[in-house]
Amino acid sequence: MSTGSILLKLQQVDLSLERDRTELASMPEIAELAKKRRAYQKLKADATKLYAHRKDLETYLSELDQDESDCHEDIAIAQRKASTSDYREVQQLEVELSALAKKLEKIAFDRTGYEKQLTELVSKQEYLEGYIAKFEASIVADTKAARTKASEIQNRIDSQEQMRASLAARLADDVAQRYEAALKRFRGLAVERLEGNVPSVCRTSLQESSMSDLAHENGICECPYCHRILVLDADEEA
Ligand SMILES: [Zn+2]
Repeated sequence: MSTGSILLKLQQVDLSLERDRTELASMPEIAELAKKRRAYQKLKADATKLYAHRKDLETYLSELDQDESDCHEDIAIAQRKASTSDYREVQQLEVELSALAKKLEKIAFDRTGYEKQLTELVSKQEYLEGYIAKFEASIVADTKAARTKASEIQNRIDSQEQMRASLAARLADDVAQRYEAALKRFRGLAVERLEGNVPSVCRTSLQESSMSDLAHENGICECPYCHRILVLDADEEA
């Protein structure tokens, strides 16, 4: 391979390395995953809130059970101590029993309300748990896919770096240095080839006279217009 062809091939490898490095650094899958993880944290926080609310409702219900059994105990005590012969005591008993009956009614009413809330909450909880499980599975799958994609790109980068090193090793030191400098200066497009009398990057036609004036060594020179490395004798396949 001529020096010019090696340079063109090197540029091709560098351009594709640049593309792959950019792609790896800005994979949309990574941003998407970060978004999903934030949404997942939000779901988990919702689940925690539901759990706490459920615990509260269960506590209220067990307190109602306790109140109810206290009421029944009070009724039994009131009935036991009252003697049916004394009119005032009978009246007193009726008042007490009626108050306790009202208390029991209130307990039953509250219980219905809490039980209804609890039923709704449990079904919300079940729905959310199912949703979270599916969400977790999709994050795992997405992470795997992103990792696979990233490692494919990384493998490409690794093999291109090897190819780059072996191409660069075939260049004379001064040519290699010239290429590296031009690469920085022209941000990747350091080399152009002559197609007829037109350089392939700057596309400024060279005059017949200036063509013959081009001072070249190893088939490469500097483009008089854009100052890139101009390859005069590229192999056909390069
Ligand atoms: Zn040029």
